[in-house]
Amino acid sequence: MDAEQLFKSLCSGDALPELRTNPGPMPTRGHFSAVLEDSLDRLDKGDKELDLHVLHCTEEFVTFYDGYPKSSVHLLAVPRRERVLGLGQLAAVHLPMLQRLAAYVAWLMQSLEAKPGDVGVGWTHGIHSVPSLRQLHVHVFTQDLCSPCLKNAKHFGSFRPPFLVSLDDAIDAVERGLEPERRFGLRTAEEDMKKRSLRCHRCDTDFGRRFAELKKHLATCQASLLPGTAPRLWRVSEAASASDRSEELPPQHVLAAANTDSAGSDDGQNLRAWLMQGGRKRSRDDPAGAEDLVDLI
Ligand SMILES: [Zn+2]
Ligand SMILES: [Zn+2]
Repeated sequence: MDAEQLFKSLCSGDALPELRTNPGPMPTRGHFSAVLEDSLDRLDKGDKELDLHVLHCTEEFVTFYDGYPKSSVHLLAVPRRERVLGLGQLAAVHLPMLQRLAAYVAWLMQSLEAKPGDVGVGWTHGIHSVPSLRQLHVHVFTQDLCSPCLKNAKHFGSFRPPFLVSLDDAIDAVERGLEPERRFGLRTAEEDMKKRSLRCHRCDTDFGRRFAELKKHLATCQASLLPGTAPRLWRVSEAASASDRSEELPPQHVLAAANTDSAGSDDGQNLRAWLMQGGRKRSRDDPAGAEDLVDLI
């Protein structure tokens, strides 16, 4: 079994369908902040009204279209079974689910690449420090940040680090027993974000707090982007052919550079790091290791 087949089997759902036009806000009867819990309940009941809003679904995770897309394609990956109220509530008990979620999001991002709708600037992902929706959800989006729904400075700031936290950082904090509230400064995250300068994430031009100027600029800026953050196992197909040299790379290279020659090597390290979480080192050619990985996931 090659790495890509393995990864697809981990997700155990259907292959990722083609992207559709964003269907707009999800239907909800309750308060907007509970729309995801509401949608998960409807999904369990087989509510057909929701089909339009679902891109992909496994037994454990679902990917919805974000009802208010902040970039050309904007999705939400959500755990279906565990109800978790965002980053601040994450604890050791959630780790197995978080690691599976990271694998799912990595698979999702890899599957999305080069699909129609991909604007060629790459994908990134993250969790808001202070979310507007209750149930834990991971934003997965193209990095253009060009959309009519991107209407103010807060919208822009909340899709940039440090307000946007990667799954790897969230998992790392929980693994090390750090309280997410302290580790990510959640109490002041929103205030801090509102004070920060608005800088184009492509060319680094500083717009101060002048959002209208930034928005105009984003529509035309052509500077190439730094790679977005991706969870471990990003680009597993490349990881399968990675050289052993990748084992010497320092940990900061774990997040793969999507458009650089070293991407394969970095991903090789991701895959190895992941495989080693099972308690022993496994080679990619070790079928027994692959089966254990399925159990781990
Ligand atoms: Zn959110
Ligand atoms: Zn720019």
